[in-house]
Amino acid sequence: MLNELRSQLGPEKVLTDQDVQERYSHIWTMDQPLQAKAVILPQNTNDVSIALKICHAHQQPVVVHGGLTNLVGGTKTQGHEVVISLEKMNQIEEIDPQSRTMTVQSGVILENIHQAAEEVDLLFPLSFGAKGSAQIGGVISANAGGLRVFKYGVTRQLILGIEAVLADGTVINSLKKIIKDNSAYDLKQLFIGSEGTLGIVTRAVLKLVEAPKSRTSAYIGLNDYNKVISFLKYLDKGSAGTLSAFEIIWNKTYHKMTTAAETSPPLPYDYQYYVLVETLGQDQEKDQARLLNLLESALENELILDAVPAQSESDLAWFWKIREDVRVISASCTFDQHFDVSLPIPLIGSYAAKTAAALESMEGVNHCYTFGHMADGNIHFVVDKTNDSHELRIAINQVVYPPLQKMGGSVSAEHGIGEHKKAYLKLSRTEAEIDLMRRMKEMMDPKGILNVGKVF
Ligand SMILES: Cc1cc2nc3c(=O)[nH]c(=O)nc-3n(C[C@H](O)[C@H](O)[C@H](O)COP(=O)(O)OP(=O)(O)OC[C@H]3O[C@@H](n4cnc5c(N)ncnc54)[C@H](O)[C@@H]3O)c2cc1C
Repeated sequence: MLNELRSQLGPEKVLTDQDVQERYSHIWTMDQPLQAKAVILPQNTNDVSIALKICHAHQQPVVVHGGLTNLVGGTKTQGHEVVISLEKMNQIEEIDPQSRTMTVQSGVILENIHQAAEEVDLLFPLSFGAKGSAQIGGVISANAGGLRVFKYGVTRQLILGIEAVLADGTVINSLKKIIKDNSAYDLKQLFIGSEGTLGIVTRAVLKLVEAPKSRTSAYIGLNDYNKVISFLKYLDKGSAGTLSAFEIIWNKTYHKMTTAAETSPPLPYDYQYYVLVETLGQDQEKDQARLLNLLESALENELILDAVPAQSESDLAWFWKIREDVRVISASCTFDQHFDVSLPIPLIGSYAAKTAAALESMEGVNHCYTFGHMADGNIHFVVDKTNDSHELRIAINQVVYPPLQKMGGSVSAEHGIGEHKKAYLKLSRTEAEIDLMRRMKEMMDPKGILNVGKVF
């Protein structure tokens, strides 16, 4: 099989032995050599199709590698598997300012997409901490969310067209630039959020929006979760559609996130909840004045206890570095375990308090750090543990996940299922839903070679 791959793709696109071992399966475990039979580096869709045809014929399990930033074990491999890495498919093929679209190969890094859009005064709004490494194909496959979902939606809402290759090498081209297309099933949606189990995304048409001309931001301190909800509604109503982010950070997490000199605390450590808000609009002076007025009346009416607005570009960078640099928390943990659950907004306060207290009373847990995208009903826990035992991992999962089922929540708001959450999928989805997903997987990948053991 390796000889076939080498002869049809060219030997430089098929890495083996030492070249494989110099690679890794996640950006946080670069010291651990990659386990794989080979790594294939396609340069275009045809290469991906050839590679999959050969792997399919040999029933060869394949793991797809993008930017390797997922947080669910989605890119882990075993020695008998072949990796297909999209890193060489990194071309931005076209930017169409009139249709407000960008057509890209799937290995383009998210930050490069941001820059290219900016150059033509447009914005690709999807953004999160790992934007400097995550590739658009991985982002699509994870249906990533991030920091501006409240205004612009998740990945699913920002993709107009997709080209993907099925397990047997068939190319499915749905690369249209149009917004409305009801000509039967919307097949591109199958590849968004399916974590590489149904096909390999090779190209995509991204939806861009007009670049905002103004950006305002502020940190707000509160002690009552019900007031956080009221403040969200108040701010959204008063911001004339410009509210783009409403992030919540619990006191203990805020402490941890503001320990370094460049991330000193914008507000004192006196409050239970810290909210970081952002608006994106078209007139800096007016938008800043509106935010200040809203904050002042919220203070007067005792809706909030404290607030500090960003007054300059450097304040904006400082405020957002605190929230985006989640690595500060992971790095402080002896062993870390991450969660990204979602649930109805009114239930977040009590669920988070109960869960953090229960976790911190467990033997083997040092701390629980809570924060998240509150306006999307999505919170994160990072659990600092004394050891990485399987038993402790499962015991922690049992505290976090089961209560979500009754509340109509989800075990994954945005990171996906991967390997880590397979056992808990049934808490978010009905048996009939999972059965239909399995049948779709069997139909699209009948030999079961793509990302085996991920999701199911
Ligand atoms: C610091 C940090 C902050 C983060 N913040 C957020 C956040 O706020 N919101 C959020 O949603 N996520 C967040 N993430 C996780 C986020 O989901 C991933 O960073 C990103 O979406 C995955 O892109 P990637 O290119 O790294 O994909 P990878 O990690 O390489 O792969 C992700 C999955 O997709 C598959 N895959 C990769 N490329 C393709 C392809 N071309 N075709 C088919 N399958 C493919 C892989 O097999 C794997 O199952 C964060 C991660 C980090 C490290």
